[in-house]
This record gives sequence, C-alpha cells and structure tokens, in this order.
Amino acid sequence: MARFIFITGGVVSSLGKGLASAALGALLQARGYSVRLRKLDPYLNVDPGTMSPFEHGEVFITDDGAETDLDLGHYERFTGVPARKTDSISSGRIYTNVLEKERRGDYLGKTIQVIPHVTNEIKDFISIGEDEVDFMLCEIGGTVGDIEGLPFFEAIRQFAQDKPRGECIFMHLTLLPYIKASGELKTKPTQHSVKELRSIGLAPDILVCRSEGPIPVKEREKLALFCNVRADSVIAAQDLKSIYEAPLAYHREGLDQAVLDAFGIAPAPKPNLERWEDVADRIYNPEGEVKVAIVGKYTQLEDAYKSVAEALTHGGMSNRVKVSIEWVDAELFDKDDAAPYLQGYHAILVPGGFGERGTEGKIKAAQYARENKVPYLGICLGMQMAVIEAARNVAGIAEAGSEEFDHEAGKKRFEPVVYHLKEWVQGNMTVERKVGDDKGGTMRLGAYDAALEEGSKVAEVYGSTHIEERHRHRYEVDTKYRAQLEECGLTFSGMSPDGRLPEIVEWKDHPWFIGVQFHPELKSKPFAPHPLFDDFVRAAKDASRLV
Ligand code: GLN
Repeated sequence: MARFIFITGGVVSSLGKGLASAALGALLQARGYSVRLRKLDPYLNVDPGTMSPFEHGEVFITDDGAETDLDLGHYERFTGVPARKTDSISSGRIYTNVLEKERRGDYLGKTIQVIPHVTNEIKDFISIGEDEVDFMLCEIGGTVGDIEGLPFFEAIRQFAQDKPRGECIFMHLTLLPYIKASGELKTKPTQHSVKELRSIGLAPDILVCRSEGPIPVKEREKLALFCNVRADSVIAAQDLKSIYEAPLAYHREGLDQAVLDAFGIAPAPKPNLERWEDVADRIYNPEGEVKVAIVGKYTQLEDAYKSVAEALTHGGMSNRVKVSIEWVDAELFDKDDAAPYLQGYHAILVPGGFGERGTEGKIKAAQYARENKVPYLGICLGMQMAVIEAARNVAGIAEAGSEEFDHEAGKKRFEPVVYHLKEWVQGNMTVERKVGDDKGGTMRLGAYDAALEEGSKVAEVYGSTHIEERHRHRYEVDTKYRAQLEECGLTFSGMSPDGRLPEIVEWKDHPWFIGVQFHPELKSKPFAPHPLFDDFVRAAKDASRLV
C-alpha cells in the first residue's frame, strides 16, 4: 500500500507547487522508492483540453490519451513515470461522474450532496492504483481558501482519517515575501495560510516556503512555533537559475529527509543523486550556445509551449550547449517577407497549434528553412504547414491548405492537402469522428505506433524503425498527395502501421528538415533527451559552426 503525500498551496498561486511535487518525487526515487504523482484541479472544466493555452498553458497528453494539466509534464520530466488518465482530475470531471451516476439511479434515491457524494468520488480517485507504488503524491491545484477547492480539501482530510495513522502527510507551499524597506522576510502570510488550512481540519507536516534568500533561524523558529511544524520541516524554496537543480536544492534543504521523518521511516535509505548531479552539471556548464527560433502563435505565454521549450533544453544538455530560445510571433510575417525575422537563428521550430491565425507566417518559416538549409523541426501543425509549403511552392499545388482553416472560416478556399480525419485505427478498433463533434476529448489522442522507413533520417535518429509517440490532432496530411510530394523530394518516412496516416515527412536534400504529426516533446526528459530534440540541437550546433 502506498503512503500518501498531499501537497497544497497558500498565499499566492504560481509558487511552483508542481515543480516542488515533481522534485520530491525524484528525490524519493533517488532513495529507491517507486512513486506516482497526481494532480487534482478544482476548476470546473472537465479537462484542460478546451482551455486556451494563453490562459492555462500547454495541454499535456498522456499515453492513454488524456488531455491534462501541464504539471503532469513536470512530473514526467522529473520522475520518468509515464502519466496516465487517472493521474489528473478536475471538479468538472468529478461532478460529471457524480451526475451521471445520479441519472443512472446509482444513488438509490438519496439526496446528492458535496459531502459525501462529491468527496467520495474524489477519494475513490485518489486511491486508484494505490497498491502499485510506495508513495503517491497528490497535488491540489489552486490555493487554500478558494471556494472550488473546498471539496478537495475535505476529501483529503477524510482520506487521511480513513487510513491508519502515519500513512498520509500534508505538505503546504507558501510565500515568504521580502520587505525591502525593513530588510525582513515576512512570515505572517504563511501563518494565516496555515491557520486557514487548520480551520478546515488539515495540519501541515511540512512547510515549503518560497523565498528569495535563505530563511534565517529566527523566522524558521517563528514559523515552526506558529504553524505547529518542526523547525527542520520548514523548507526554503529559493529561486533557482534552472528548474533542473530543484531536486538537488530541495535535498540540500532537507525536504526528502523531512518527509521520511514525518512518516517515521528510520533509518532512511541513502539517496543516489548522480542523475541529478549530471543534469545540473550539463545545464550549468555548457560549452557553447545555439539560437533556436520557435515560430508560433501563443508566444506571449511561454507556458503555452512548455514541453517544447523543455525538450529543447534537454537536447542542449545532451549536446552540452545552451539552447537560447527566441519566441517569434508568426503573425509578424503573415504578409511580409520572413527572412528579416528569421535570419541569424541556428534552427527553426514550428510547434503545434490550432486555428488559421499565423499559419501563413508558419508556412513562410518552413519555406525559409527549406530554401536556406536551416534545420527545421515541425511539430503537428508545424508538420502540416511544412507539407502545405512543399505542395504550394515545390509541387505546384497553388491552392494547397488545410481543411481546418476552411472549417473555421465557413467557406471553401483551399485544396485540402491536410484534411479532417474521419476514422482511424486504435488497437483493434476503428474510431470515427464527424466535423461537428464536440470539441472536448474528440481528437486523435495519445500514443500510437508509427513505422519508419529503413534508411531514412528519422530511422537513423531514433535508431529504430518502430516508434510510439503521443498525438493530439484532428487533421491529417492526405496520402493522396504522397507520390507527387515524394517526387519533389519530400519523403513520407513515417506512417501509421496500416500505411494510411502520414506520421513523418523529411526533405531528402536538406541537412535537417523533419516534420512530425505527433508531439515528441512530451516524452523528453533531462536525463533522457528525446532523440529528435537531441539530433535537432546537434544539427543546430553544426549550423552554428558554419556561421
Ligand atoms: N490543428 C491541427 C490539427 O488539429 C494541429 C494540432 C496540433 O498541432 N496539436 O490537426
């Protein structure tokens, strides 16, 4: 049976609760334990799939096809444990389940209430697969005091109460603001936050305090006294130059020791931190720098392409270079020449996206990369745009475009080189979709196999002709144009096993030009960079030597 660690936040949001949870997971692994991390989000969306990346950041996709919070990406990057559908839940999903049961008559005529029906649903979720790991880490989204959060806080209180003593602990993340004028770190907001937590029956065992500098003994003792935690369980979370130092930094602060102490695990197994020492060494001691342009639409919020940026960083680590990422808004050159905006980069990446806005700019970015032999990685929409570019400018299909944009505009303007995917094979089933289907959860989602062409660039990069990658798309390159495009030099080097869906395209006479229909960034880890990102950054490094 797992031991449970519940992670809550207070004072303000965006303190790095997800990162703290992920780093703790990595530290427990370093001590030989198995872990699973879960995110419980109080918002009412059924999943984040329909939320704007501007507002909520990237949607992270699991192998089993769930559209989840980007924190699950942190969890995976730090622990290497593939997240599952059952690792992410929201109030919207919980209420949907409860209401479906109510309609089915499962509650036998009872009045349906937050306690016990909603809280039970949450508790059932938390306990899924509890016998599989040593530690289950459950992060509650938002901050204590949020109205939406209450059923979750109540559920974890009951959950811990139902378990034998000592099997559940609570970790609370807060902010210690620094007041410049008086030169002091202030503990009062944390005291209030813990008071709020205790008023709903939760007493933290560990306090993780985000602060600009170290916590002086006086403040630490004050926090311990007023928040009723042990002084050595007050952990400072200082700002770091790289998130990948977090496991080492938290270890230095004694977080993993404090957690094991709270469970009464003594003697605690010694940690092996070699993996993280190597990661920190690579990130802090690069031997060069490459400049990569990410040409996208959601460039104002970097979280919108979180995994892409992280995967590039990982590629830099394996090549021992710093990858400096510039966010380039594709709309800037929707109509103008792209060259002035793209000169000077050692590589260009066009990430995934939805909707027509900015796509003419992305097509130009692909053209610029092809013509100037700049390494290009197109992901999902970035692959589709590269194919449209090839169709228009090389194969002579002047009206080539994506049906996605025609559907959005409500009129037919393009020759659909990229068309709406109506059916595909999943395992031994055929999945069908109509254009008018609901927006939520209806894409081709999750892990699918692809067969790579022997002797192709991608087969060399992967070192295999069989891969499995995660998908999230509704549209697809039409194989009708394959022969015509291949004749021009754009090889369809990866296909779905049944040969119907193009998964990868690459330009033959180009140093590095690859478009993939899937999202390789989701599987990259600092200690195991994804082969595509590893090789893409290597190509960028080569390009940087030429200029
Ligand atoms: N909008 C495109 C599609 O649905 C691409 C999706 C993506 O980039 N994730 O196929």
